[in-house]
Amino acid sequence: MNIVSKEVMHVGEMASGAALTVPVYRLEGQQQGPSVYIQANMHGAEVQGNAVIFQLLELLKTIELKGSITLVPYANPVACNHKNGEYTLGRFDPITGVNWNRMYHFDTEMVAPFAQANLNQSNIEIEQAFRALMLEKISQKLNHNVYGLTTGQRIAFQLQHLAHQADIVLDLHTGPISSKHLYCPEYAKASAKYFDIPHTLLIPNSFDGALDEATFCPWWQLKQAFADLGRDFPITKADEKQGEALIIKESFTVELGSQEQIDLDIAHEDALGILSYLQYQGVINSDDYHPKKMTRYCCMLEDYKALYSPMGGMVDYLAEFGQPLAPGEPLARILRMDNYGDGDPLHYISLDHQVIPILHFASASVNQGTELYKVFSKFSIL
Ligand code: ZN
Repeated sequence: MNIVSKEVMHVGEMASGAALTVPVYRLEGQQQGPSVYIQANMHGAEVQGNAVIFQLLELLKTIELKGSITLVPYANPVACNHKNGEYTLGRFDPITGVNWNRMYHFDTEMVAPFAQANLNQSNIEIEQAFRALMLEKISQKLNHNVYGLTTGQRIAFQLQHLAHQADIVLDLHTGPISSKHLYCPEYAKASAKYFDIPHTLLIPNSFDGALDEATFCPWWQLKQAFADLGRDFPITKADEKQGEALIIKESFTVELGSQEQIDLDIAHEDALGILSYLQYQGVINSDDYHPKKMTRYCCMLEDYKALYSPMGGMVDYLAEFGQPLAPGEPLARILRMDNYGDGDPLHYISLDHQVIPILHFASASVNQGTELYKVFSKFSIL
């Protein structure tokens, strides 16, 4: 039986002086193994990850743990409580307009000098020193910044300080109305098959402010810097060499479905998929969790296209998620009642090539230029 410890982390203060806090749950294994960091609800309306963390904690009570796992539900208390009418808005900081998941930090300049200075160290020494350097950089940002931080940066950097301590990072999100999909760094493609998620986006080695990138890009860039100096540095199982200590550094954004929804039964399924991946990585001592058989599609990030509405109107979303849609088949039809009787009240929206629809806008009423759908415009079987 694993013991779960709980800590309350302060991430900021409201105008009234009320503390902004997030709960941090920790499980420590009896044996050595990779450390894992899982957070949910950085975007306010994307709540299903909290239910997945609940189900993971319930399942992990009786699973023998080899590594350690840190779980943070309600990771962003500002976004989580950002209601307007019956909706939760929290995708952007309402004061600065910045996406809450674009505020993490990575200074690429740190990589090359570190690689040069540590060229002859062992893999384990490099891992420890580079992790310490990343933690030091975040601590400096948090504690030694005379001009202060935005509300969002303060939250993000504290979460990042937890995430940098881990080997494996899972950031649980959802789309608006969406199928399940996974953001996966290209080098960790083989690991994507262990999640029960049929659609994978392969991410290049460039940092754009998101947590997954903030935690995998430094290691990937370090690996490349060492490769330029003629040295291997392993960060995933595919790099494994006999007689060498294996280092795993993988981060994923897990898109669990649609926003504004909690389904505890689906959350249980999602948790089983995560356990399948954690078992593969040697975090749990078990042989009970295996990925489901399914057709898994992957798409390069550059081929993940948004389709913007060519007109304003009321949308009837037609295309089914997750299945290839033939060229010319309608994605949606747009109703324009102002044109009834003297114009064309119905417009069909289609593309001239095959795509896989992944998600669509959450509302039926759209302006011209609203992001209607996101689709895999080129894809292959994973
Ligand atoms: Zn999100």
